[in-house]
Amino acid sequence: MKTGPSFPIPTTALLVPSPGSPFTLSPVLIQNLRPNELLVEIKYSGLCHTDFLLRLGALPNVTYPSIPGHEGAGTILAIGPAVQNRSLATGDNVLLSFTSCNQCHHCGEKAPSTKCKLMPPLNLSCARHDGTTAYKTEDGATSVSGHFFGQSSFAQIAVVNELSVVPIKDMTEDEMAVWAPMGCGYQTGAGTVMEVLKPKRGDVVVIFGMGGVGFAALMAAALMLEVGTVIAVDLVEEKLRMAKEMGARWVINGRETPDVVGEIMKITGGKGVDFAVDTTGVGKVVQDMVQCLGQGGTAASVGAPPPGVKVEVDAGVFFAMSKRWVGVVEGEVWPVEFIPRLIQAYKEGKFPVDKISKVYPVGDIEKAIADTESGKVRAVEADDVVLDTKLTCR
Ligand SMILES: [Zn+2]
Ligand SMILES: [Zn+2]
Repeated sequence: MKTGPSFPIPTTALLVPSPGSPFTLSPVLIQNLRPNELLVEIKYSGLCHTDFLLRLGALPNVTYPSIPGHEGAGTILAIGPAVQNRSLATGDNVLLSFTSCNQCHHCGEKAPSTKCKLMPPLNLSCARHDGTTAYKTEDGATSVSGHFFGQSSFAQIAVVNELSVVPIKDMTEDEMAVWAPMGCGYQTGAGTVMEVLKPKRGDVVVIFGMGGVGFAALMAAALMLEVGTVIAVDLVEEKLRMAKEMGARWVINGRETPDVVGEIMKITGGKGVDFAVDTTGVGKVVQDMVQCLGQGGTAASVGAPPPGVKVEVDAGVFFAMSKRWVGVVEGEVWPVEFIPRLIQAYKEGKFPVDKISKVYPVGDIEKAIADTESGKVRAVEADDVVLDTKLTCR
């Protein structure tokens, strides 16, 4: 920085005042910027399941008030002097993703790394690595937790860890609105298929739960990898119709089909599937996913189950059929390398995420959540919510 910003910097955040309370637009103060951090003016932010967990108070070690948000898109306002990527400049547009420790051997290969042993605390604790936060309430009296996934993108100006930054310099604001969820939801779905499962064209893939993550997985399998047989399972007919448009050869409505595994067996001639992805985190669905695997099949759990969910697996069948069941966080991708590939696929029409999201003004967040939970967003036209964070509460 030639002339650094002077602190405190007033800004506005969509914070959670206490566990279980609604999101509230509130003025906050940014107290400082560490040498390895950047200030990013957030233009759009995706809304992801983990933000709900923070709102509910379901994440351990989070102190409140706290600022969630981990799918930011915006413009760099200031760059700390120790930020290693020297090609970054103020005014550059960026997407934001997760962070990691940058010290372990996994981070030595690629940083951020989903294999970093500090991945959960660094991304879910809503604080910096040393437990501090840059934010305070407007009167300066109370600390406000931030740095969620290294970014806390539900703020007009976010203090961002350098590892969370994915430079997309020529991105327009319209593109930000479409691409904001790349840094979590979309890379999770697409990365699980492309980087972990890696199905071939002749394989059979089933995806449970057609949300933003499920659609990203579907697009990656059917449109990007051109897998011939992709089965989509959901409870909402409209989403299944959309899944067919996006390359699903078969769809199953779990509300109308009591025996989903039986139906999958029918479709596959009794053989079962090669690959399965669960985005729901529902215990019964995870169980079905493992059960419907054919010989040598691999199942990936991508959706977070509520705490304490247990799943029954027939261990003998699991062994004899050489099944695998893996948990996949953030698609196991390196966002700086992977997100530009998704953007290229979007430009080629193979990753049409513009069809599955809807932009809400930030002040309408509770309506957006209600629409999502009631299935209204999903049933109408969109499945993923992107917040236009340019509105202020003042
Ligand atoms: Zn997320
Ligand atoms: Zn690490």
